[in-house]
Amino acid sequence: MTNQELWQAVLAQVQLNISQANFATWFKNTEISSQKEGLAIVSVPNLFVKEWLENKYNKPILKILHGLNEGIKGIEYVVGKAGLKVVNKPILTLPEETNQLEFLELKVNKETNLNPRYVFDSFIVGPFNELPHAAAIAVSKDPGSVYNPLFIYGGVGLGKTHLLQAIGNEVVKNFAKKKVKYLSTEKFASEVVNAIKNHEMESFKVKYRAMDVLIIDDVQFLAGKEKTQEEFFHIFNVLYEANKQIILSSDRPPKAIQSLAERLRSRFEGGMTADIGIPDFETRVAILKAKAQMKGADFNEEVYEFIANSIQRNIRELEGALNRLIVYQKINGQQPDVEVAKNLLKNLLSSPAKLITSRKIIQTVAEFYDLKEKDILMSSRKKEIVRPRQIAMYLLREELKSSFPFIGRRFNGKDHTTAIHSYRKILNEVARDKKLEEEIGLIKERVLSS
Ligand code: ADP
Ligand code: MG
Repeated sequence: MTNQELWQAVLAQVQLNISQANFATWFKNTEISSQKEGLAIVSVPNLFVKEWLENKYNKPILKILHGLNEGIKGIEYVVGKAGLKVVNKPILTLPEETNQLEFLELKVNKETNLNPRYVFDSFIVGPFNELPHAAAIAVSKDPGSVYNPLFIYGGVGLGKTHLLQAIGNEVVKNFAKKKVKYLSTEKFASEVVNAIKNHEMESFKVKYRAMDVLIIDDVQFLAGKEKTQEEFFHIFNVLYEANKQIILSSDRPPKAIQSLAERLRSRFEGGMTADIGIPDFETRVAILKAKAQMKGADFNEEVYEFIANSIQRNIRELEGALNRLIVYQKINGQQPDVEVAKNLLKNLLSSPAKLITSRKIIQTVAEFYDLKEKDILMSSRKKEIVRPRQIAMYLLREELKSSFPFIGRRFNGKDHTTAIHSYRKILNEVARDKKLEEEIGLIKERVLSS
């Protein structure tokens, strides 16, 4: 496991255990920068976060880390490079009584790994997640018989874990006898590694083959883990043959997971695949209102719209923003208006949450290379225009996940193959050419700051 994967696995578990507000405040922009002599070096954005993690969260973090990698005996927090992205300290200090919260929140069931907070009741449905939600409901009513496996994919913070956990909780509620287990892929992988090391493969297999519902989150992390893939393949087959339910999530569809054994890929595609899209503006407002209501808070229409406009692609961040406003209201006893909200959310919004449009990207690229927007959009074959155009196409794909046909159309009705070609070309070059990487970095900065 790389440091990055290890930290991802830790964050995945931490997140199950603490409130979103705390998670956003204390774990954003943290990473394991290195390991030495049994110490994990965790870099954090500022001194404030360092002190909090040391004093409040060190024990549970270490426990999780140690569970994933027995070699790790301690953690050193350093204010480091991940911090560059973040400005000074959080604007808010959380009120005293929340200091104790993290202990009360450790409610995850030890057997099933299910967190009672993730249920269907608190899951908001809109056009962007209707299909995966419907599939999840169907599976929870009749596990093992409708869609098997159920494979849900979508971007970060869009509700995959919530949905997977909700199925688990619902099954436990309705079928007391069924054995349900939720695991992150990293946790599963580390169990495989430990079972091999301790010669406990047999009992490992027996344990998993006894499951009625096996839920594995973030299977994109199976990439490159051959031994884990192999063990999972066998468990998958046994469960599948016995009509036991398997539920999986990933940040991308099965065919886009790199170095995944073909036989696993075809298993993953063999049931129901449903993707969670990005909520549109109205849905984002609806999510904010529903969440505020659940927490007994309410804000001006304008404030909801401001948040929904500023954060477009991540429900976790929507929730984090809302929670800040709720805390503000509690402390100050007054509702934040848009100006206050802007201020409170400044450092949450300093990262990728700005409003990015295809127009903005194209304009910025044109400006950067001293061209006119229409030059880039038209069909000129001049070298000094072709290249910026390719870069613009690359950025539309990278930053907005635009489809290739869309990108083609956007550039004066070009064919999608032109868009694919441009994207791949720049992608390859960026990997090799430091200068180009920097150049594109500068353009991105301008897109974000304009
Ligand atoms: P993912 O696993 O896709 O990264 P999560 O399931 O962890 O995303 O969701 C991030 C946060 O957003 C969680 O707090 C979750 O409860 C919340 N969330 C996501 N989707 C919804 C939804 N449709 N309704 C309510 N809350 C949601
Ligand atoms: Mg998740």
